[in-house]
Amino acid sequence: MAIAQLHNNIMTTKSTITIPTKTGLDLKRIFNFSAGPATLPEEVIKQTQQDLWNIAGSGIGICEHSHRGKVFDKVLAEAEADCRNIANISDDYSVLFLQGGASMQFAMIPMNFLSSGQTVDFLHTGEWTKKAIAEAKLFGNVNLAFDGTDSKFDHVPSASEINPSDNPTYTHYCSNNTIYGTQFPEVPSTNSPLICDASSDIYSRPINVSKHAIIFAGAQKNLGPSGCTLIIIRNDFMQSSSAKVPSILDYKKHADKGSRLNTPPTFAIYMIGQVFKWVLNQGGLTAIASNNQEKAAIIYDTIESSGGFYEAVAQPESRSLMNITYRTPNDELDKKFIAEALDNDMSGLKGHRSVGGLRASIYNAFPINGCVTLAQFMKDFAASNG
Ligand SMILES: *Cc1c(COP(=O)(O)O)cnc(C)c1O
Repeated sequence: MAIAQLHNNIMTTKSTITIPTKTGLDLKRIFNFSAGPATLPEEVIKQTQQDLWNIAGSGIGICEHSHRGKVFDKVLAEAEADCRNIANISDDYSVLFLQGGASMQFAMIPMNFLSSGQTVDFLHTGEWTKKAIAEAKLFGNVNLAFDGTDSKFDHVPSASEINPSDNPTYTHYCSNNTIYGTQFPEVPSTNSPLICDASSDIYSRPINVSKHAIIFAGAQKNLGPSGCTLIIIRNDFMQSSSAKVPSILDYKKHADKGSRLNTPPTFAIYMIGQVFKWVLNQGGLTAIASNNQEKAAIIYDTIESSGGFYEAVAQPESRSLMNITYRTPNDELDKKFIAEALDNDMSGLKGHRSVGGLRASIYNAFPINGCVTLAQFMKDFAASNG
């Protein structure tokens, strides 16, 4: 076949490919109470469908663009600018988009900032601090400035419950305990650089970045798909590290290269950037926070007014607005609740295996309608099983 003919055939084949407009979008979605990966804003998902095919009129989908090309340059620059804009992050901080999940930060932080003989203070509030503590012990001493083990992690510490060590290198806390459903009502005060695992409540309310040396968050709860971790790190703290670590685990090297030391998770960064735009469109963190308060109140009020049928896991002053943990009178009813909820188009309500019971995760993008629907279902379930 002549080359010209072959070329024509190829061009004709290409031109017959069109975006499948009818798939997916026409199928019904249900209320997803999953703790993570979790519900994303519908506007973001729809935009992503288009941009997967062809982003910004480039003729190339977002996943197929070079991480050093102009299109991705813009995606990354806008994601960082919007991230800074949302939380008023000053130039004293670097914003990084890395891989390895929040769990890699558990290792990377002590690897960079803790050496043998030094001590890190932990506010131990559950499974996620437990994992971070285990990693820190590989590098230095750990002091539990608060230990919630005996109270089964049903609350976060008040100021009087925190016993700092004399000269900790830094203090690590988790702002929202995804599994137990507790959340710090405000930033704990400490006398050392403060590091926050904000994986499950980042950008769910106004955040005082300047009180922190590092804030990190795996994306898959409040920011986007899994595969990317947002790190907000104060530059002078970052520079204080003299540890010898492999380049790929070195914050300074990542910051020097603007999150492009190697191929970054381009698709996840793109989606996180779309979610940042969505957050700004909602009116920013103040508006998001009041929406989250309203959503959580619908479910907590239903628990409180159930005449004891439902019992909340967390103490009232520590209750999370993101993950609502509770139980029915027994395990059998918990199972029945989960099964019947699923029949009613509500999924992901099973509590974490270490706590049992029920958990409703209602991150930023989870719609208020879903909270109203769950509350009505809870009332009906209590009436027919109480
Ligand atoms: C989900 C979660 C993690 C773990 O995140 P990975 O990305 O799976 O490593 C850590 N901390 C908190 C608070 C979480 O909610």
